[in-house]
Amino acid sequence: MKCQKCGYCCQTLILEASYEDGKREPRIFTKGIMLNLDDPLEERLWSLNGTQEFPCIFLDLETNRCTIYKTRPQMCRDFEAGNDERCGLCDGKERLKVEA
Ligand code: SF4
Ligand code: SF4
Repeated sequence: MKCQKCGYCCQTLILEASYEDGKREPRIFTKGIMLNLDDPLEERLWSLNGTQEFPCIFLDLETNRCTIYKTRPQMCRDFEAGNDERCGLCDGKERLKVEA
């Protein structure tokens, strides 16, 4: 199906960016949560949501658009928009409730 731009994928996927992603988009290093601290820098990952219940820190919740689209992580580039089990589950009106 065609991507509905509902943003549900960016709200519900576990999002982990790599060191290479951070070199392309430095805000991953400053805003993401660094994981696997014992590993060499090049092998570390940066969580963009912290837990599965939180949307990506780079998702604009008003517009459902990615705020770093041109420099988004590789996982987002590889994701087949419109072809995931999440597609069609959210019409854009049932966004996750995020505590302030
Ligand atoms: S970086 Fe952009 S495309 Fe990737 S999960 Fe976050 S909001 Fe979605
Ligand atoms: S869940 Fe599917 S339809 Fe909704 S924005 Fe993501 S790819 Fe598009």
